[in-house]
Amino acid sequence: MKYLIETYGCQMNKAESSALEVIFGERGWIKEPAPAEPAGAPSALRSPAFSDVDLVLINTCSVRATAENRAWGRIDHYAALKRERGASGARPLILVVTGCMAERMKAEIVARQPAVDYVVGTFQKQAFGLLLDAVEAGRRLDALEETPSFAFSASYYEPGSFRSFVPIMHGCNNFCSYCIVPYLRGREISRSPSSVLAEIAVLEDSGVREVTLLGQNVNSYRWLGEADARRADALEHSGGAGSAAFAEAKAAYSRYDGAPLDFPSLLRLVSSALKERGRGGLRWVRFLTSHPKDLSDEVIAVLAEDSLYCRHVHLCVQAGSDAVLSAMNRRYTREDYLGLVGRMRAAIPGLSLSTDILVGFPGETEEDLALTLDLMEKVGYTYSYMYHFNPRDGTPAASMPGRIPDKVKRERLARVIELQKRITRSLMGARVGAVDEVLVEGLSRRRASEVLARTQRDEMVVFPAPASRVGTFAKVRLLSLSGNTFRAEELAL
Ligand code: SF4
Repeated sequence: MKYLIETYGCQMNKAESSALEVIFGERGWIKEPAPAEPAGAPSALRSPAFSDVDLVLINTCSVRATAENRAWGRIDHYAALKRERGASGARPLILVVTGCMAERMKAEIVARQPAVDYVVGTFQKQAFGLLLDAVEAGRRLDALEETPSFAFSASYYEPGSFRSFVPIMHGCNNFCSYCIVPYLRGREISRSPSSVLAEIAVLEDSGVREVTLLGQNVNSYRWLGEADARRADALEHSGGAGSAAFAEAKAAYSRYDGAPLDFPSLLRLVSSALKERGRGGLRWVRFLTSHPKDLSDEVIAVLAEDSLYCRHVHLCVQAGSDAVLSAMNRRYTREDYLGLVGRMRAAIPGLSLSTDILVGFPGETEEDLALTLDLMEKVGYTYSYMYHFNPRDGTPAASMPGRIPDKVKRERLARVIELQKRITRSLMGARVGAVDEVLVEGLSRRRASEVLARTQRDEMVVFPAPASRVGTFAKVRLLSLSGNTFRAEELAL
């Protein structure tokens, strides 16, 4: 059996697609590469390779209306191909939609596009194996079982990769006024320490060199001990099998599941478990995403002390004015944020920071925007994800007064982007000449004689080296800048 998967949205969605791919793999399904963008190219989808595909899975994002529109385009496109295939008498095509849109719209998706066979919501992913079994047997499942809370998969690993995500928590309790995530992904739930440690151990043995501990707000990680262990066990027993190596490692680490654990304690535990293993293969750990109100001094202390943790933190600020931060329900002030950045910078030399910035929020004035621009200058972000406000139905911000006209939003966003480009250029320019360690991720797309690597600070670097260096660490001198990528030379270790 063959499948094709298209994933849109955040890192969490990418990790969840990887976990679903593990379930396909366990059943011997073969992955067909998704057609290259422009994704609508019908010729690619009428190719002989696509005519073998049994199931198309679209993992959707709801964070912005544009993301949903794009997903609808893909759903309608595959629906048309499915009808075409049905009319020709060729093998049937099963169309499955999952991700945040599946959770948000559920029945509405099938009502609008009846060619969709299954809509798999956030709490139904454990039934995914059963769904595949039914497709193989030519049966149809009437309903997919829902779990009472989100269940973590055993593995999110993409075979052959040297970097991997390890989800540690799911959902969000913050209810920022513009954000749909808490309504779609539910309340925060943390993954068991034994499951996190077991996955990291299996990844290290698979050759992974760097992991990113992942969650909507990793700093809220909170494992409650016995009660959580009983809940997680109940879910895991009803779920997928996982690999034998994972099960063995998890049993060995189960001694950690009985006691409460917060995020800094989890960071310490991950570090000590890796040291105890003594393999030395997995040397870098990152985490994503951090909410400024929850990043504690204890976390800063762990980063300062432990070289396992990369010198980069993505610290979403969203806006630089207290009035806008309050309307966004971010629950920190500009002063809180700048104080946190000051403490982090003082404790962690060489730290790079990146962020998310949302402009054009209802009621945002020119003075508010000036404060955002000023904060960007003060912090000096290496890069930012910048976007302008678009209302999401069902969120408080969608009905707030003081909507900013589109033209003004676009103009403000352009100013933010321009400033970020200038800051990035200046910070990166100051790094030319520095010597740093990198992890080689792959071959350069431009020249086969060069490799593409990344620093702990999340900067991209290319330098001449053979393909055999992929997956290894190297010491380089940064020689010059080409766009936002450093050109470098390798030095002896
Ligand atoms: S912290 Fe705020 S922006 Fe982030 S997922 Fe939660 S509600 Fe959304």
